[in-house]
Amino acid sequence: MNGTYVDRTQSAMSARERPKLSLLENKCWADIRTPPDGSKGKPCLFLDRDGVVIEDEGYQSDPNAIVIIPGASDVIRSANQKGWVCGMVTNQSGIGRGYYTWADFEAVQSEVNRLLEEDGCRIDFVLACPHHPDAEIPEFRHKNHPWRKPNPGMIEYAAQAYDIDIEHSSMIGDKLSDLEAAKEAGLTHAVHVLSGQEQLSPDQVQQLQSASFHVEQISSIKNFRLR
Ligand SMILES: [Mg+2]
Repeated sequence: MNGTYVDRTQSAMSARERPKLSLLENKCWADIRTPPDGSKGKPCLFLDRDGVVIEDEGYQSDPNAIVIIPGASDVIRSANQKGWVCGMVTNQSGIGRGYYTWADFEAVQSEVNRLLEEDGCRIDFVLACPHHPDAEIPEFRHKNHPWRKPNPGMIEYAAQAYDIDIEHSSMIGDKLSDLEAAKEAGLTHAVHVLSGQEQLSPDQVQQLQSASFHVEQISSIKNFRLR
């Protein structure tokens, strides 16, 4: 597993100042919300967040501006009901670029979690990567961080934490890098949605297809059905 859990709440900060952060030694975020016990061998629905589950206004940092994309709650609830693990894997270079902080991310993510819970959904884990080759903040400047999609680090971390059946898992993303990360991690299925920032052509999506990797394109998550 890449990185050891570090409880930053044990730092010297006063209780009032403490943001509820879940940072690993690799400076990425790992919020394991549902304990992995009992998930052994289950498939996982991996979700990119921005442009897939919530509207992507670009570098989302305002919890009051969160809009859940129609149908996202239904898909997550159906994954919950079918016994799939369901989690988010999100690149957050806005943190590395200095546009917002982990505390801002936490505020946004808490609101996303709250809205989904209100709809009767459960998100089992949230993983986020702040690194970027052009990050303004030196600690997040990384040429090719293994957790930054298209690299598969976040998916592999979750797969190990939950002992996921990776072959029968699915990924929904709005960018080529989401699909590439899924393929690299050994998933056999991924879906591109057109509700986000990258309007890939059908050809671009199909180019990723192989004998062991099936890719589809749909307008938005509301048209997704678990296999
Ligand atoms: Mg996205």
